[in-house]
Amino acid sequence: MKTVFVVGAGPAGLFAAQKIAQAGHEVVVFNRDIKPGGLAEYGIYPTKDKMKVGLRKQFAKVLSLPNVHYIGHACVGNGCGISIADLQEFRPNAIVFAVGAQGAKQLGLPGAESRGVYSAKDFVYFYNLLPPFAAQDFSTGKRVAVVGMGNVAVDVAHWLLVDDPHHTAEDVIVIARRGPFEAKFDKKEFAYIEAHLDRQSFQEELKRIHEQLAAVGQEPTKLCDATFPCLLKPDPGQQKARLHFRFLSSPKAIHPDSSGRIARLTVTENILVKRGEDVAAQATDKTADIEVDTMVFAIGDVADPTLGLPYNKDSYVTNPHPEDAKQPGYQVLNPQVGQIMDGIYVVGWARKASEGLVGIARHDGEVGAAEVIKYLQTVADSNGASYDEIVRRLASLRLVTKPELELLAKAEEREGKARGIQYFKFSDDEAMLAAIEEQKSQTATV
Ligand SMILES: Cc1cc2nc3c(=O)[nH]c(=O)nc-3n(C[C@H](O)[C@H](O)[C@H](O)COP(=O)(O)OP(=O)(O)OC[C@H]3O[C@@H](n4cnc5c(N)ncnc54)[C@H](O)[C@@H]3O)c2cc1C
Repeated sequence: MKTVFVVGAGPAGLFAAQKIAQAGHEVVVFNRDIKPGGLAEYGIYPTKDKMKVGLRKQFAKVLSLPNVHYIGHACVGNGCGISIADLQEFRPNAIVFAVGAQGAKQLGLPGAESRGVYSAKDFVYFYNLLPPFAAQDFSTGKRVAVVGMGNVAVDVAHWLLVDDPHHTAEDVIVIARRGPFEAKFDKKEFAYIEAHLDRQSFQEELKRIHEQLAAVGQEPTKLCDATFPCLLKPDPGQQKARLHFRFLSSPKAIHPDSSGRIARLTVTENILVKRGEDVAAQATDKTADIEVDTMVFAIGDVADPTLGLPYNKDSYVTNPHPEDAKQPGYQVLNPQVGQIMDGIYVVGWARKASEGLVGIARHDGEVGAAEVIKYLQTVADSNGASYDEIVRRLASLRLVTKPELELLAKAEEREGKARGIQYFKFSDDEAMLAAIEEQKSQTATV
């Protein structure tokens, strides 16, 4: 039996942990957040209850394995309480990094530091109540630009148009580099917001870009079959909160007002060009200004450079994938000496940022775990620290253990009942830790 540390308790980390534990090894999971689940808990849209409850059950099953230990509220990395070197001092046989993609791609625009400009990841964490984002300023105004045309952009628009309890947004403008045929969102996801599509402004926008679509052989009447099937449905009429699209537009500059909040966005207008089978955007020297008071950019995520693993551009440095040399592999590479770092692996969105849904992350964790299991067969037991010893040596940090997670779940259930809601979750770490302590004292007095 060998010991493996898994850093990150999202779907990739937890399903990797399950596979390694089922092969008979001891697994210690370190997780930045108090609760497990990663984006499955704090990213997936808040009203997708059925999916979230199902995933929580699967994660609880993994954590119920006796040889899977959990250490929550345990951030690993250069700016964190535990460094990678600290982990290595415990002498595990392997470490699997399943930390997701915690950085956001930046637009690098002048004025990007203006108030009211957010990365979609942070905004999504905010409305999904992840500490500390839940307590930060993510105020929105009446006119919100959402940059990007994938599922995350649609989730953000869904929140603004439908579920935001403050209902500030009157106009949500999706800003897309390419055209309507290049929309990347799933039709199923778009269905949640299609009633808000301002049909008149959409038709005007299609008219504005008609020539550019024609230049690459795209015919607007085919949009219903391609990306916007809602156009076949009757127009539900004017809504209080409206959805617009500004196609063929790339953000160029953000202009704040005198209070420092975004007031205007300058975009570069693009044309479409054929690149083989693909259609690409090509910038022109024309620009346009759009008045907005909030901007959320949903253009993808990158790996967190502060973790301390070798990093290049937007991702950790790994060996080439065994089946496709153009793809990143699972083993981390030291670029200085061009050698694999023995026993150090990455899986899930940490290996390939923003790659797919939970099922893909699970699969990736499991494939990575299979590689780890093979590696373990080739090494002697390192006789590293036991789980109890690790917890003892990290006692100066307020870590959260598996039994404490159960107490937290009970406290949230009780709170939910008291408030008459189906599912309640605490939105700050202090409240969670206090609830755990309160639950402990109640158990002690019973
Ligand atoms: C807005 C949004 C909506 C989505 N909606 C859906 C959906 O509806 N359906 C679906 O199937 N998929 C959805 N996905 C995709 C899904 O969430 C991902 O595929 C999946 O969560 C990726 O899993 P992961 O384990 O690689 O990373 P993550 O889920 O990001 O998990 C990473 C874990 O690592 C921990 N961590 C991070 N940094 C550190 C550190 N330094 N030290 C220790 N721990 C750390 C985090 O606390 C977290 O627990 C959505 C994603 C987003 C962004």
